[in-house]
Amino acid sequence: MGIDLRGAPLLVVGAGIMGAGIAQVAAQCGHPVRLFDVRDGAAADARRKLAATLDGLVAKGKLAADAAQAALARIEPVASLDAAADAKLVVEAIVEDLEAKRALFRQLEALVAPDAVLATNTSSISVTAIAGGLAHPGRVVGMHFFNPVPLMKLVEVVSGLQTDAAVADAVFKLAKLWGKVPVHATSTPGFIVNRIARPYYAETLALLHERAATPQVLDACLRVAGFRMGPCELMDLIGHDTNFAVTRSVYEANFYDKRYVPSLVQAEMVAGGLLGRKSGRGFYVYPDGAPALPVAAHEAPADLLKDTREVVVHGDGPIADALEAAATKALAAQGWGPARERGSGWIGLAVDGARLMLTDGRTAAEVAAATGIADVALFDRPLVLPAPSGAALAFSVADRASAGWRAQAAAWLAALGFSPLPLADTPGLVVARTVAMLINEAADAVLQGVCTPDGADAAMKLGVNYPAGPFEWLARWDVRGVVALIDALDATYRGERYRVSPWLRRRALA
Ligand code: NAD
Repeated sequence: MGIDLRGAPLLVVGAGIMGAGIAQVAAQCGHPVRLFDVRDGAAADARRKLAATLDGLVAKGKLAADAAQAALARIEPVASLDAAADAKLVVEAIVEDLEAKRALFRQLEALVAPDAVLATNTSSISVTAIAGGLAHPGRVVGMHFFNPVPLMKLVEVVSGLQTDAAVADAVFKLAKLWGKVPVHATSTPGFIVNRIARPYYAETLALLHERAATPQVLDACLRVAGFRMGPCELMDLIGHDTNFAVTRSVYEANFYDKRYVPSLVQAEMVAGGLLGRKSGRGFYVYPDGAPALPVAAHEAPADLLKDTREVVVHGDGPIADALEAAATKALAAQGWGPARERGSGWIGLAVDGARLMLTDGRTAAEVAAATGIADVALFDRPLVLPAPSGAALAFSVADRASAGWRAQAAAWLAALGFSPLPLADTPGLVVARTVAMLINEAADAVLQGVCTPDGADAAMKLGVNYPAGPFEWLARWDVRGVVALIDALDATYRGERYRVSPWLRRRALA
């Protein structure tokens, strides 16, 4: 027999943003909810705000008036922690501070019934540490909701070293009953989402540090890949202080593993109070936000095609196929089409001997040196196929390329239907390196038993709205390509950041 928390009386401790959201969801699902906060009047304030929220839902037709009333009637602000005695589940959502949480759990342990479950909504503190020193650490579990709680589907159910499996299963089932998508995680720095998401910010910050492109260009590239917001606008929204603090905490908790090292670019912004939207300025100036990018050409000049004698599409797979279709269309008016060579080991176009190549993680200069071809241009990985017409696509050109090829490389990308965005000759361009590193981080999380591949996919799609999960991207890419790209980044940067996960390397060799 497992633990059954259906309809169980709940105590929520901490009536801030998260506590209020948790109370609302639980009350709407039929639980009697008591709400406690150390600050006098905070719980009553939260209930008043919840009344307004529920009224709003009724006005929008999203909730029946009697259901709203019943939910509100189930929420009772209380003035003392003694209310814990009646609770079968306590959810803690107080300040993010280990000592404060430990002190609270010690107090709770003395008050609750022997079979009560104690859950913490911490987003970064070890569940093992919170439970440490308690008489019954087995009943402590992480129930990590995302903000805003009523809207965000994901709940990371976090097990510490001593958490009973039955306790984790009970809150997992309960989260499902609340209409959430729970995912099991073990208590490790950043759990699932806050850990796997680090490269989304880190790769863009690294590119900014190298002055590879502007925030607008980087944001445009990642939006086209299906992300709702580019990393720069997203960091501006989250607040650089908060985003930097999470990065630092993951870095420090991993004993200063250079893989997670925070960015000087962001440190400087935080130091100067450029916190993003909330301070009026981050990467962009608010309320205006990101200025529109100058519109890149996405049509080829007519004489480009007329003057071309030969086009060969190289490589296999969906990207090469899409390039062949686009080149065939572009050349149709000239009365001829591209040739195709599948087994050449690279993807892209050979245009009269010049090379327009999908990034494999090397710089254009390295490819030029390795092939002896001076006219090399690289383009980023189109993640969404078929690419929408005029989709932004980053490209770079080798330093020793001719002036003619510099202009032609962009024109060819335009002829293939993209809006080319020039980048400095940095390895792995933008989307390819970001997605490869997200896959790599997810692979390490799975290797270390933090979550399953399905859990990681669900967590990233529901916790941070990614257009696909890291293992879904991996299935559409190919594991050898991902490993080769990260190895190439490592060869350029020679540090700890681009360390291929053994989970990926093993599969690449299989
Ligand atoms: P908040 O500041 O809005 O609310 C915290 C509340 O806890 C305050 O009302 C405060 O008075 C109260 N409090 C502090 N110490 C207390 C104590 N010892 N006993 C009782 N009440 C106490 O914070 P929040 O954003 O709701 O975050 C709460 C927890 O949820 C933190 O652990 C945070 O890391 C986590 N979390 C936050 C988010 C988010 O986006 N805000 C998301 C996921 C998890």
